[in-house]
Amino acid sequence: MKEANVSRRNFLKTVGVAGVGSALAGNQAIGQTAAVPPTAPPSVPLRPFGKTGVKVSMLALGGIFDITLNQLVLQRALDFGVTYWDTATSYTNGNSEKGIGMYFEKNPEARKKIFLVTKAGGSHAPEALNKMVDLSLERMKTDYIDMFFLHGVGDGAELTDEVKAWAEKAKAAKKIRFVGFSSHGNMERTLQAAAKVGWVDGLMLKYDFRLMHTDAMKAAVDACEKAGIGLTAMKTQSKESFNLESEADLKLGGHFVKSGFTEHQARLKAVWENPQIAAICSQMGNVTILAANVAAALDKTKLTSADHAALRLYAQETCSGYCAGCAHLCESALGRGVPVVDVMRSLMYYHGYDDVRLARETFAGIPENVRRQLATLDYSAAERVCPNGLPISRLMRQAGKVLG
Ligand code: SF4
Repeated sequence: MKEANVSRRNFLKTVGVAGVGSALAGNQAIGQTAAVPPTAPPSVPLRPFGKTGVKVSMLALGGIFDITLNQLVLQRALDFGVTYWDTATSYTNGNSEKGIGMYFEKNPEARKKIFLVTKAGGSHAPEALNKMVDLSLERMKTDYIDMFFLHGVGDGAELTDEVKAWAEKAKAAKKIRFVGFSSHGNMERTLQAAAKVGWVDGLMLKYDFRLMHTDAMKAAVDACEKAGIGLTAMKTQSKESFNLESEADLKLGGHFVKSGFTEHQARLKAVWENPQIAAICSQMGNVTILAANVAAALDKTKLTSADHAALRLYAQETCSGYCAGCAHLCESALGRGVPVVDVMRSLMYYHGYDDVRLARETFAGIPENVRRQLATLDYSAAERVCPNGLPISRLMRQAGKVLG
């Protein structure tokens, strides 16, 4: 970090985060206002978002937390130039979107500075999408959404002409500016499909230091870049390891302490090294995490070859605890509509994020009749095809126990 344009230490000193961070780490009272930083902090760099003509902050504020209780994070994000805000209709039972609405109501001038993204799951029928967009607009106290994502697309077949026609109408009505989707499973295939349909403006995909180097992912990202689709990476810092506190985790943490970064900052930096990725969306439910991520975005120091080697070694040593989202392998092998990837994502929130509420909320999104069967099925066919050798059977049973 010593050659950095803005060192982490100096940055933290400038904004005073080291001192206030711990005090502000928890939820903030409704209506609490942020003190203006003593000097204007440096702003997170912008990157072009596909062919939209819009430049977005390379760090996006992920909104899976109750923003009605934590308004200060929005203010600080704006102070630091984190102007890409991401939410979804489902997050914290609507309190993520409602919290953004509270902020815009009190700070109407802020709306035009923000690239506002929301997502809706469930039916892609035009009536259902209209209903969700109207709900989001009402909750967020705005008359337009910059980017509307279909939430959790795992199959290119979901990118229908009907959705395309709906998006054209919603754009004409000026309710949304751009359209796309988020993807946690089969990302490489859905990216390739998006590049072909010609109407996807942007998308958000599970993408990290492990996935970014595979041939399939590189080809999918290239195809999207060629098609002018803006790309946002998510789940970039997730530990995802179901073997917590492993030797490998301790070793990686130790390596980066010596390098001057945290391993979380290194995970961000590895992804930002790919200029095809416009932004990383990171869950930043308190100012301390926000400041650490902003510091990583501002710092120009490149990861060294030793840093990359440490990440590669960690990826190898922990792959049996990492779900790569290749649902077409395990879910097809099971052939019963078992959403393995959704269950793994729920477990990731449980173990990797240490967020029991979010884990249970995600798990509850799986239909009840499917959830009830999870502990009774034979997963041997899925385990045979899993490239990472995940103990799928054990994990499915564990999910039923801890999340059910
Ligand atoms: S469980 Fe294995 S096969 Fe299934 S999505 Fe995860 S990594 Fe891929």
